[in-house]
Amino acid sequence: QCGHDHCTVFRRGQQRLYQCSGCHHQTSLRVGTLFQASKLPLTTWFLAIYLITQAKNGVSALELMRSLGISWRAAWRLKHKLLRAMQEREADRVLRGRVEVDDAYLGGARSGNRGRGAAGKRPFVIAVETRPNPEGGLSPPVYVRFDPLPDFRQTTLAHWAERALDVDTLMVSDGLAGFLAAGAQVTYHQRVVVHPRKSSELDCFHWINTLPGNLKNSIRGTCHGFKVRKYAARYLAEAQY
Ligand SMILES: [Zn+2]
Repeated sequence: QCGHDHCTVFRRGQQRLYQCSGCHHQTSLRVGTLFQASKLPLTTWFLAIYLITQAKNGVSALELMRSLGISWRAAWRLKHKLLRAMQEREADRVLRGRVEVDDAYLGGARSGNRGRGAAGKRPFVIAVETRPNPEGGLSPPVYVRFDPLPDFRQTTLAHWAERALDVDTLMVSDGLAGFLAAGAQVTYHQRVVVHPRKSSELDCFHWINTLPGNLKNSIRGTCHGFKVRKYAARYLAEAQY
C-alpha cells in the first residue's frame, strides 16, 4: 500500500492477516479475490473448483454440500460465485473462422433448438467454432458461445454478432431472418435454407444439433427446478466455460 517492505503476521479467527509495519494497513491473501468475503477454508474452495471443472455434466449445490461437508446454503453461494467467475471469464470470448450459429430455447417443457417461439422459454443463441480437419470433415468444437437474448430480431442478432464474432468469420446459419443482419457483421455468411426445415439432417449443422442435447442433459441433471429466467445466463456460461 505504501511501499514499505516489512510486515507483521497475525491471526484473526481462521484468517492470517498481514499488517504493514510502515502504515499499519492490513490485508490477507484473499483480498481482491472471489474468496474475500467467504468464511470457508481455501482448501474447500479449491476442492469445489476441482469438482466443478472435472464434472462433464456440472455439479449441483446438493452434491457440493455432500462432497464438501458444508451447508446447502454455503454450497449454493459457493457454486454461484464460481458460476459468476466463469461468466466473467467467458464474456469477452470472440469466435472466428468457421462458426455455426442457431437459435435455441432454455426451459419450458424441453430445451433445445426446436419449438421456435415457444412461450415461457428463455431464448439464446448457440455459436460453435470448428476448424477443418486435416483428414476431412470438421474438428470437434474449439469454442462455443451460449448467449441469452431477449429475442431473435435483426437488430438484436446484429448487436450480438458484433460482440461475439470476429469480422473475419464464415458464419453458417439456417434461413432465420434475424441471422441476415448478423451475417452482415462478418465477412462471409453461408445461409443454408431447407424446406421443410430439417437442418438436423445436414452435416454442416452437426455441432449445432449435438450441443443443445448435451446442454439439456447437463442442466436437467444438476439444476433441478432452478429459475430459468433468473439464472439462465449463469448456467449457460458454466456450460460454455
Ligand atoms: Zn504500508
